[in-house]
Amino acid sequence: MDTLKDSFLEILRSEQLLTGASLKDRYHHIWHMDQPLNVKALLLPESTEQVAAIMKICHTNDQPVIVFGGLTNLVGSTETYGDEVVISMERMNGIEKADIQSRTITVEAGAILEHVQQAALERNLLFPLNYGAKGSAQIGGAISTNAGGLQVIRYGMTRQLVLGLETVLADGTVISSLKKIIKDNSAYDIKQLFIGSEGTLGIVTKAVLKLVELPQSRVSAFVGINDFDKVVSFMRYMDQGLAGTLSSYELIWKDSYITLTKDPSVDRSPLPDTYNYYVLLEGLGSHQNQDEDRLENLLENALNEGLILDAAPAYSKTELNRFWHIRENVDALVAVCKFDQHFDISLPIYAVGETIASISESLAKIKGVTHVFPFGHIGDGNIHFMIGKENDSDELKIAINDIVYKPIKMLGGSVSAEHGIGLHKKEYLRLSRTDEEIALMKQLKRTLDPKNILNRGKVLDL
Ligand SMILES: Cc1cc2nc3c(=O)[nH]c(=O)nc-3n(C[C@H](O)[C@H](O)[C@H](O)COP(=O)(O)OP(=O)(O)OC[C@H]3O[C@@H](n4cnc5c(N)ncnc54)[C@H](O)[C@@H]3O)c2cc1C
Repeated sequence: MDTLKDSFLEILRSEQLLTGASLKDRYHHIWHMDQPLNVKALLLPESTEQVAAIMKICHTNDQPVIVFGGLTNLVGSTETYGDEVVISMERMNGIEKADIQSRTITVEAGAILEHVQQAALERNLLFPLNYGAKGSAQIGGAISTNAGGLQVIRYGMTRQLVLGLETVLADGTVISSLKKIIKDNSAYDIKQLFIGSEGTLGIVTKAVLKLVELPQSRVSAFVGINDFDKVVSFMRYMDQGLAGTLSSYELIWKDSYITLTKDPSVDRSPLPDTYNYYVLLEGLGSHQNQDEDRLENLLENALNEGLILDAAPAYSKTELNRFWHIRENVDALVAVCKFDQHFDISLPIYAVGETIASISESLAKIKGVTHVFPFGHIGDGNIHFMIGKENDSDELKIAINDIVYKPIKMLGGSVSAEHGIGLHKKEYLRLSRTDEEIALMKQLKRTLDPKNILNRGKVLDL
């Protein structure tokens, strides 16, 4: 370590290098802040040049590296084995003024998602990537996990919001393409390789992000439905009726909804708790009063036609925030579970109703399973399962995994809709990808990182 340390100190100031006792306040995940970080060293670079120089040293010395963003990932992708050097991006958090004409914003990878949203807002523009961890997740982390969230049906995943990218490869080479253009078919779109690669192919240092015009109105409603087929028909009906402004279409299954809206949860239900499914939808439009009227008319028609059984539009900003708190307050589900296990699967939307019913039935029969809470971004076929259980044994974990993942391959779904593979889902990657796809991924990894130093042991075993 001493030689490595001397090399790092040729490019970094001593306070940019933490080792030994100075690591005791650091951790590998935001949920494990009470456990000190187990690594050789943590480095705090302040520029792309420093990241490149660090990687040259690590490459020469076969030194494994993990990049730390906001540490909010949900798949163990920043867990350490002890022999790594960590590069924490927190000091590379610069955000340039949004460019109004090209509707872009250029940011360093360590910029916090919420700060980027605010910077866009200051110029009357919207950065539409949005999810619960926005106050801690960094743009580099969002890019490296291709994060999705609450507005994917309208604005797409992170992949659709990145126009330019600067990345440092495992050997320190800087690949920079910070263009502000939407169309660029000059051969391969290299940046897409790094988006969603969970820090295994390169280190993202900067990005040009796409912004959109700031919506001038926001309307939401909770809706009660009993048949899953109608959940799907109603989504199409609303998408047509709201003429392209439908931005979120979230589904909460009955048991999850009841838990989210009863003691000890702080929230109360705007609808009776008798329906099988609760949809929370949102439209982002251009005129508040007109959009509210249009939503009310659409809901009234849907009720008259028997497409839905009940509806509660949000009549104020407070009510709207309350509705979203119900959907986002996952802590209320965790609170009733002694131990929990969570999932983030994708299924073709037509298969969601039956498949989730059958998975839930099978899970309920397993000894040790206490709760089954499905909910999710149903507009994009993404279901987040929260399973409550009596113990945290590997045996129970595997039994639950086997049931939840069983239908994935046959239905053409995915073991990860948006959280990624990391460490926790590595064994199940083969259910989402063919042998040929995995072989090509390994070939790409070997080409870009021949010494396998970037996030070794995550996503793929070589
Ligand atoms: C409450 C909560 C709600 C969430 N909701 C959603 C949701 O709705 N949708 C969704 O998609 N996700 C969600 N997530 C998970 C989401 O994937 C992460 O929050 C986020 O995208 C990761 O960003 P981060 O900065 O915390 O990255 P980290 O957790 O620090 O890192 C994630 C991965 O990216 C790598 N990495 C980080 N920065 C870089 C970089 N600059 N270059 C290369 N690799 C890098 C790391 O090595 C690691 O492999 C949620 C998480 C929480 C805790």
